[in-house]
Formats: sequence, structure tokens, C-alpha cells
Amino acid sequence: MKKLSVIIPCYNESAPLINTHREVKTVLENYELRKIYDYEMIFVDDGSSDDTFQIIKELASHDSHVKYISFTRNFGKEAGMLAGLSHAQGDVVIIIDADLQHPPHLILEMVRYYEEEGYDQVIARRSRKGEKFARKLAAKFYYGIINKVMEVELGDGIGDFRLLSHRAVDALLSMPEYNRFSKGLFSWIGFEKKIIEYENQERAAGESKWGFFSLLNYAIDGLISFNSKPLRFFIYLGMAITFLNFLYIGFSFVNILLFGIEMPGYFTLISAILLLSGIQLISIGVVGEYVGRIFYEVKRRPNFIIDKSNIESGARHE
Ligand code: UDP
Ligand code: MG
Repeated sequence: MKKLSVIIPCYNESAPLINTHREVKTVLENYELRKIYDYEMIFVDDGSSDDTFQIIKELASHDSHVKYISFTRNFGKEAGMLAGLSHAQGDVVIIIDADLQHPPHLILEMVRYYEEEGYDQVIARRSRKGEKFARKLAAKFYYGIINKVMEVELGDGIGDFRLLSHRAVDALLSMPEYNRFSKGLFSWIGFEKKIIEYENQERAAGESKWGFFSLLNYAIDGLISFNSKPLRFFIYLGMAITFLNFLYIGFSFVNILLFGIEMPGYFTLISAILLLSGIQLISIGVVGEYVGRIFYEVKRRPNFIIDKSNIESGARHE
């Protein structure tokens, strides 16, 4: 019998968790699915400060399919997913949010594509229906830019809700980087991908952990962690500006020779200073970002520390 692992990263999800467990379980107990698949649900408690972990333990005490990993503190969703992936024993792994924004019934469709057509990744893409106009616009703008500069393709509405084959999971785990931008990693590993669509869902309960600034940070992470083009861009920009400066200096010099000194040139001076200082600040920032990342990479710190878990060691990866 094959095994299906469902990874559910949870951070302060006490409100929707019991429903999530029930709904996901209902899908996994589907008669047709159960004929081929045994399953496990891995709840990763990402250092929640509410009683998420108590609820998970309670679920585990009634349901032997429930596995849990609990972190010593909040390490972020990326770390949660990584922990789940490295402890999953399934031949197939599905990652799903804890707040029921990812409709669990899609799991059946995902498995069907995996079984019948052999896709290594089956990705659920949500529509942006019901979202604020500003957010839609920001998303459009962001994906427009990012897909131009990145060597991997990111799709709007494509998140972490997906099925991964054993091979795809191994590929993901083979990437040792500390700064994990999963959207990029999922795309980077390649494999045949199938995209299925679903309507945007309101969060079942609790609150989103994403505000404006966390989204902006995430957007910058995406840009920076996947390529060095921003660095290159500033080199080109610097070269272009230097070239223009030379032209301007040459032109002024000839001008002075021919006509003598005429204008104080306040405007030119101030605009040059403003322009250049702006560009300098940005490019120092860009360089700093990369240096910062190198700093974290060379430390070789683990992505998470496990406090409690009911998964015996001897899982696929540690
Ligand atoms: N999450 C997590 N660690 C965090 C933040 C979020 O494990 O530090 C989980 C959260 O419990 C949820 C999923 O990641 O299952 C998505 O989070 P959220 O619903 O806040 O994001 P949104 O759906 O608003 O993008
Ligand atoms: Mg959510």
C-alpha cells in the first residue's frame, strides 16, 4: 500500500484547526483513495502562542494518523514546510494551509493527476476573486517584474498548496540553502507540472499572518534569493550614469573654452546629487541584502529546532 503525507503548517491556528483536521481527514478517508493509499497528517506547530499545540496533541491521541512536530519557537512557514517534508514518509506529499483557504477536496483531484498522468507536481492555483483592487494590482505588477528578472517562473495565485511526488520532495530536500523561498524552489526543481484552478476562499477562522510589510518583505525575498540580476542591474545603471557624466563634463568643458563660465548651475548640481544619492542608497541596500544572505548561509544554522514530536526518528530524512 502506498502512503500519502499531508503537511499542515500551523501558527496560532487554534480556531480553525479542528475543522481542518476533520475536513482533510474526510477527504483522505475517501473510499477510492483508501484502496490505494494509507495516509498521515503531519501538523507542524510553528511555535504557536495559543493552544494550537494542545489541540494537535489532543487530535493525535484520538487519531493515529496524526503526526506532529512542534518547534521551540516561531521559525516561519518555510521552516514548517521543510520540517514536514523532511519527516514525511509518504510516496506522495501534499502541503496544505491550516486555515481551510486551500479546499481539501482538491487533494483527490491532485492524486488523480499524479496516479493517472504521472505528474510530479500538481499545483493548485487560486483566483483573486474578492480581493482588494490594490492587492490585485500589486500582485500583477510584482509577477510582471519578477518573471522578467528571474530564471525561474512564478505564477500569480500559485502558492504552497500542491502535491509533490517522492522524487520532487527529494529534489527539494537536496537544496541545503538556509534562505528558503519555496515558491522559487518548487519552480527551480522542474518536473512535469499540472496546474488546477480553484476559487479564492476566505479564511475559515483566525487571522492572516500577512500584513502589508510582510508581503513586501516576501516580495523582496523572492527577487533577491533567486538571482543576482539586481546586482547586475545596478552595475549597468552605474556604468550608464558614469558615461553620461563624462559626456556632460566634456560638453561643459568645451562650453567653458568657447564661451567662458556662465551659469551657477544650481539645478544640475542638486539634481545630480539627489539622483546619485538615491541610486547609491538602493545599490548599497542591494549589496547588503546579498551580504546578509551569505552571512546566514555560511553560519549553517538549522532552519528549525524541534521541541516535541511523535514521529520516531528513522523517517526519510533528518
Ligand atoms: N504559518 C506558519 N508559520 C508562520 C506563519 C504562518 O506555519 O510563521 C502557516 C499558517 O498557520 C497557515 C499558513 O502558514 O497554515 C498560511 O498562513 P496565513 O493563512 O497567515 O497566510 P495567508 O493565507 O494569509 O497568505
Ligand atoms: Mg491563509
